[in-house]
Amino acid sequence: MNNKLFDEAQKYIIGGVNSPVRAFNAVGQTPLFIEKAKGSKIYDANGRKYVDYVMSWGPCILGHADDRVVGAVKAACENGLTFGAPTEKETVLARLICDAYPAAQKIRLVSSGTEAVMSAIRVARGYTGKDKIIKFKGCYHGHSDGLLVKAGSGLLTESVPDSAGVPKGYAENTLLAEYNSVKSVEALFKVNDDIAAVIVEPVAANMGVVAPKKDFLAFLRDITERHNALLIFDEVITGFRLAFGGAAEYFGITPDLVTLGKIVGGGMPLAAYGGKEEIMSVVAPVGNVYQAGTLSGNPVAVTAGIETLKILRENSIYSSLEKKASTIEIAYKEKGMNVNRCGSLLSVFFTEKKVESYKDVLRCDTKQYANYFSQLLKSGIYVAPSQFEAMFLSAAHTAEDMEITLNAIKNLTFGI
Ligand SMILES: *Cc1c(COP(=O)(O)O)cnc(C)c1O
Repeated sequence: MNNKLFDEAQKYIIGGVNSPVRAFNAVGQTPLFIEKAKGSKIYDANGRKYVDYVMSWGPCILGHADDRVVGAVKAACENGLTFGAPTEKETVLARLICDAYPAAQKIRLVSSGTEAVMSAIRVARGYTGKDKIIKFKGCYHGHSDGLLVKAGSGLLTESVPDSAGVPKGYAENTLLAEYNSVKSVEALFKVNDDIAAVIVEPVAANMGVVAPKKDFLAFLRDITERHNALLIFDEVITGFRLAFGGAAEYFGITPDLVTLGKIVGGGMPLAAYGGKEEIMSVVAPVGNVYQAGTLSGNPVAVTAGIETLKILRENSIYSSLEKKASTIEIAYKEKGMNVNRCGSLLSVFFTEKKVESYKDVLRCDTKQYANYFSQLLKSGIYVAPSQFEAMFLSAAHTAEDMEITLNAIKNLTFGI
């Protein structure tokens, strides 16, 4: 059935998918077409059930189709799908975000992580009057032009390193540093005096999970301050996942700007960027940095976000998420596999050496990953169809799911 649906999709949708990693190219298989999902389980078009560790790439921290979120969304739909005018609910969500994330004194709601990051960078440039930004190899910040330079995620498994169609001039303002390398950042600041911002995934999770070395984020905080550049935390994955206050809370580092996505929309297309009031004051209609969106602050998406954040605020799930992730980590280790974990984010790497940088990541054997992926799939476990992604846990993963997963890991017929 999946084959048939994929053939049909390819007739009309380029590549048959609406986002490249979904095509399963990196694991050489036909993608699963999803019929439905509930809690920790996802069902494909053949009615096969899997324990899901993709969780829509992060948003579903409460599990799929949480009754409370779905109930609130259904009720919101009855009142209209979009108005293009302000609603009180937008303020409710904004306040929830600002309270959870004190570095965000003022925010703006948008519809995707890509849009949030693109806008935050425009704000950083508008505020500082400088053009260059530093990004880290292997970090993914969405698909806007200037950021598709050594980006992670789907781009690490594509044959071309960067995207065609990006003018050279755009990428010229993007300086590349090595994640976890203090030296590489210092070197860039030494020869460039027009750096507007450093953007980083505080825990890199789009080249597989690579945690920041001790003091790396504190170093970034310090060097940006010394050079009047802004520090942007791209918390599209880590926000509301590492802790309710994201990586900023988890590591105790305050960025100037933050981008949030995935969890913040509770499964609907919603994202946000925000930061210090003084900096955000450059955004129109208050300032002269333009950013807008027909569906920004969409009432249905906002409702899903509010409900999700309220549940997360009131039932702290983070220690139990971390416990589940740790149980899985131990199972991989017992199998002799190479695993990185930070909070509830984890991934296995098919390379012998400890993975601490983008260079280490590139050593991975993606063929072995593909083999591992298909074995787990056969055991009813759905992990990311690529080496360079994280494994996502949710509150809905049960003790029984853990047991099935540990068993499947135990039965893998290879290991490094
Ligand atoms: C997913 C992701 C984005 C892009 O978000 P989209 O909603 O897919 O546009 C940006 N940054 C990070 C860190 C992400 O993981």
